[in-house]
Amino acid sequence: METVKTPDFFKDILEDMETEKEETLKMKCELHGEYTAIKSIFKSGRESITGCPECEKNRFQKQQEEEERLAKKEYEERHLEECRNANIRLEFYDKYFSDYEPKTEGQKKALEAVEEMQTTGKGKIILLGSNGAGKTMLGSILARNMGGKIYTMYEIATLIRQSYTPKAEKSELEIVNELATIPFLCIDEVGRIKNTEAVQDWFSYILDKRHSEGLPFMLIGNLHFKKDCKDGGCPKCFENYFDKDILSRLHEDTTIIVLKTDDKRREKNTLKYYSD
Ligand SMILES: [Zn+2]
Ligand SMILES: [Zn+2]
Repeated sequence: METVKTPDFFKDILEDMETEKEETLKMKCELHGEYTAIKSIFKSGRESITGCPECEKNRFQKQQEEEERLAKKEYEERHLEECRNANIRLEFYDKYFSDYEPKTEGQKKALEAVEEMQTTGKGKIILLGSNGAGKTMLGSILARNMGGKIYTMYEIATLIRQSYTPKAEKSELEIVNELATIPFLCIDEVGRIKNTEAVQDWFSYILDKRHSEGLPFMLIGNLHFKKDCKDGGCPKCFENYFDKDILSRLHEDTTIIVLKTDDKRREKNTLKYYSD
């Protein structure tokens, strides 16, 4: 084994660090013309000359730009992955809460509710009302920001149906358990599919389990409460979609917001009738 005496070992390194002589020289850069360089001669005999300061600056800038470009690319890739994982629609990929412009009192409350849910990571939100009030946009942003998912009732029903085909990767139980345990779940278009017993079963199972685990969820639907129903009960009444157990669960820690939109279709259909 070779042993190295410590003073000798560092001698070369130390000599290489110690400047013996320093002088200034006029140098010429092909790009930037003349500049004053500093030539250092070290004790070890090694020499070094400083380069063109402009070139040096450019090199530093380029390096910084490259680092920024990579950071941006990495951010965008992560953002894209978060959007895909959350199952949000393409139109909401670049949407944030700051893009939501509440026009009514209900919309203001809806924005407050989703922002609070994002902060606390708890609670239940039910957003009802006609289309065009930005309900899905709020649910999508929340799903992405909280590392959760947004699905329509139809999508969940389809996933479950597919679980019974030979090629299925997951069983029904695996699917519903995943939906019951992810950090946030938004179910959109509640009431848009036929409310069969099978639908009731998985819907209640998911909501009940999330409730028991204290996990946040949001329900969106073009529905209304029976008490507000013009027909005194119809397929769009909220109560049709929830069994007693779930309705009692929804009493706790829930914000319900019914949104009204200035429905443009109604404006178009304004009927004028005159008679003498
Ligand atoms: Zn230069
Ligand atoms: Zn009704």
